[in-house]
Amino acid sequence: MCFEILERDLLARIGRLKTKSGKVETPILLPVINPAVQPIQPKELAEKFGCKALITNAYIIRKHYGEKAAEEGIHRLLGFDGVIMTDSGAYQILVYGDVEVAPEEIVDYQERINTDIAVILDVPTGWKVSHKHAEETVRETLARAQKLWKIKRRDDILWVGPVQGGKFIDLISESARKVGKLPFQIHALGSPTPVMEQYLFDLLVDMIMAAKMNLPIDRPLHLFGAGHPFMFSLAVALGCDTFDSAAYAIYARESRYMTEYGTFRLEELEWLPCSCPVCTSHSAKELREMPKNEREKLLAMHNLYVCFEELRKIKQAIIEGRLWEHLEMRCHSHPALLKALKKIGKYAEYIEKYSPTIKRSGLFYFSHLDLARPEIIRHKRKIMKDYSPPEKAKILVLLPQTDEKPFHKSREQKRFLKLIKEKFGEKSEIFHVCTYAAPFGIVPNEIDEVYPLSQHEVASPLDEETIEYVAEQVAGYIEKTNYERVFLLENIREWKGKIAASCKAICRRKGIKLFTFNVEKWNRATAERFADFISEIMGKGKTE
Ligand SMILES: [Zn+2]
Repeated sequence: MCFEILERDLLARIGRLKTKSGKVETPILLPVINPAVQPIQPKELAEKFGCKALITNAYIIRKHYGEKAAEEGIHRLLGFDGVIMTDSGAYQILVYGDVEVAPEEIVDYQERINTDIAVILDVPTGWKVSHKHAEETVRETLARAQKLWKIKRRDDILWVGPVQGGKFIDLISESARKVGKLPFQIHALGSPTPVMEQYLFDLLVDMIMAAKMNLPIDRPLHLFGAGHPFMFSLAVALGCDTFDSAAYAIYARESRYMTEYGTFRLEELEWLPCSCPVCTSHSAKELREMPKNEREKLLAMHNLYVCFEELRKIKQAIIEGRLWEHLEMRCHSHPALLKALKKIGKYAEYIEKYSPTIKRSGLFYFSHLDLARPEIIRHKRKIMKDYSPPEKAKILVLLPQTDEKPFHKSREQKRFLKLIKEKFGEKSEIFHVCTYAAPFGIVPNEIDEVYPLSQHEVASPLDEETIEYVAEQVAGYIEKTNYERVFLLENIREWKGKIAASCKAICRRKGIKLFTFNVEKWNRATAERFADFISEIMGKGKTE
């Protein structure tokens, strides 16, 4: 296996990709090198940026250097001894409609220039095309992908199997399913550039997920043309492992300054919001006033520093289990990105399957957007499918969440549990105390120390959607269990009567007796009153 996965969070992974020129750690950004117009030389990329891999275009190399590249080898030609990936030139063909090179020639040429990672000459679907045309590009790409295994001569090059289909999700799924059956070491999602240029990040979510869900999960996925740091965390969270960026250089040419939350024109900037070597030694004014090619190089460097920095932050977030928080922060940089975050909810169950169950840090709950988090989906599944209450439990007691965790060790609950024990003695086992809590819904007391039920922080007051979600979970739980009675303590200031309303509906339908006790505050005093309330009603029940 050329790809080893070391850490995971959401669908993201930190991995190690083995090539004949060495190992690289993913997620990784490969700067695009165009030797004809290159602001930063590959040697400088290695020395100043610690850049271990880059990508160049076999079609352009062939056009400019022809046999020279084959004689010298691509590493010597570029002056770079790290990992080199070559794209096939399919994108140039898309743009210029050039067909002067046959797919077999490009396979042969990439082998002869001694590249490390190679891409077949696929047929990019393009953007403004019909479904029928898109279908043809998928079919032709697949035919070329199959042919590769008959014509390639070397076994030490990693081959990339591209997934096409453009904006047609059904075609991406089909393309991924079929190309994934071939023994490619890496896959790539083709032609999302227009999607990125037009900020259609929610569509990008669908595209990546269609590829991801149909490709072998253990192979790395490359996302072509995703060069802006403000969307790296989105792509990484969805399971993209490698990226290429020409954007750092193209933006620099147009005096555009990248940040991890968006792009500025250099003219707009009074201050430089960055601490890279370029920005700490120049002011915005100095950059504006210097000769164009000098400025272009410095901006390209800055852009690259920002890209690499963002990837380091993402990797750190992955090992800490905070990638969701990081993603959420980035997605608030632009409405189009937030739209994408909302779209992720559609795939929450799939993402949950591959997300780790234990993390190094607790989770932060900001708003209902976080309801798509794997931890919340997982808890819901656990409660609804796998969980059953203790055998002796006949009566459900629902208490509101407390700031202190675990809930059963909070001052409020400790007081309540002690009183119930005093009043009912051994019989108190018939009461099953559960906490209703954002964002998990029902938290049975006997499991409330299991991660992350005690390891989370919630921003209160809760939003309406969150309250609604918890109320639904409570009702769903009563629906699937067989308690004889339900006692509910509702903190109406926090929960607005929503838990009571939802319990009432389900209890009436199931013919369960529900006793609701409303309080303005949940504290030791109300704990005492609630215990009395239960004891009084239970006493009545005995005499009836
Ligand atoms: Zn900078």
